[in-house]
Amino acid sequence: LPLNSSSDASHQSSTEHPSLEHFWMPFTANRQFKANPRLLTKAEGMYYTDIDGNKVLDATAGLWCCNAGHGRKEISEAVSKQIKEMDYAPSFQMGHPIAFELAERLVELSPEGLNKVFFTNSGSESVDTALKMALCYHRANGQASRTRFIGREMGYHGVGFGGISVGGLSNNRKAFSGQLLQGVDHLPHTLDIQNAAFTRGLSHFGAEKAEVLEQLVTLHGAENIAAVIVEPMSGSAGVILPPQGYLKRLREITKKHGILLIFDEVITAFGRVGAAFASQRWGVIPDIITTAKAINNGAIPMGAVFVQDFIHDTCMQGSNELIEFFHGYTYSGHPVAAAAALATLSIYENEQLFERSFELERYFEDAVHSLKGLPNVIDIRNTGLVAGIQFSPNAQGAGKRGYGVFEHCFRHGTLVRATGDIIAMSPPLIVDKREIDQMVNSLSDAINAVG
Ligand code: PLP
Repeated sequence: LPLNSSSDASHQSSTEHPSLEHFWMPFTANRQFKANPRLLTKAEGMYYTDIDGNKVLDATAGLWCCNAGHGRKEISEAVSKQIKEMDYAPSFQMGHPIAFELAERLVELSPEGLNKVFFTNSGSESVDTALKMALCYHRANGQASRTRFIGREMGYHGVGFGGISVGGLSNNRKAFSGQLLQGVDHLPHTLDIQNAAFTRGLSHFGAEKAEVLEQLVTLHGAENIAAVIVEPMSGSAGVILPPQGYLKRLREITKKHGILLIFDEVITAFGRVGAAFASQRWGVIPDIITTAKAINNGAIPMGAVFVQDFIHDTCMQGSNELIEFFHGYTYSGHPVAAAAALATLSIYENEQLFERSFELERYFEDAVHSLKGLPNVIDIRNTGLVAGIQFSPNAQGAGKRGYGVFEHCFRHGTLVRATGDIIAMSPPLIVDKREIDQMVNSLSDAINAVG
């Protein structure tokens, strides 16, 4: 079949090319993609297979989520068992053991004090849940005037109205600008190619950017500010690392003024930066942590918000029969997603994958930094098993060079992620040294070919 023709068959085999007409694809240049589609049909270990049977080495863990690699039998078996046993049960005024069991397992991993878990279905929902929780807490604490939020330029916090309001990626905001949340400010971003290009790990430059928070507190009054939300490491904006001391400074200032600190760890949680959470890697404990993605290896949509006890306990007020937090999702704590998560956490533990991410960091770092000196490479940044390689834009416009490199890599059997002129690499944590070399060679060929 030609690529975009329809088929009458109601069940198509995975190798048939489907009609591309009806799926309006998310965060995709739909017309460009559909003219030249990339369709994946199978996944096993470190590899995808595309619809034409070509193997594609996964240097992105899907979309930052398949940290245990693909096709894990432990997960598919747990999912299959659970769906047969009990496909669905609500968590509104009802419960099922597996969601409680998962919450308990999760807090064994979480930073000290974050002992309560609220389940969602995605990173975007985790973010909006965290923002609402912050408002709920301040109101219950007798400080209902604390309603302002502070995000950061270039931050990505998903696509809910809360998330795009505190987020700082202009393309995600511009079309909706009349309807964003009121009372939101943004800290400056911490990307510094002038001073910190090709830094390995965290840069010495830029911790002072946290001081802008003091200025915002002076401007608005601490009594009006609910929370600061940042990604400890921004993934979606192109792997932007926190300068040394920066997160600690944010923690000090927020604590001093009674402002909650939210870390959006949708990408960094579950091993990406060489520890279970970025908070642990960089020794700064926030009040709320948002997660999703690798919580169950991307197998079934799921997110979780980790909360400090004092926030939860403050919200537990009024008479016992009152709902304390008017918020939740039909699928919060979904039993099948929870089963996938429990199996995933066991893999992480049995295979010591968070430790592996830390131990492989140096090798990965040397490998990606070997790309320095190739045409138009202006920065390389890395930590754990994540790296960003930034190019100068070409004459055709911003993002064209990055897209060219991404396309070349894919056509030659490696999946990387392009955000503008930045290529991100975030392989499953099961990656070995040979596969790291293969990814970096593929990228090197692409950079040379694209020029
Ligand atoms: N927050 C961060 C830091 C993310 O990186 C993402 C997605 O990449 C999200 C939130 C949104 O997650 P989702 O796409 O699951 O809604």
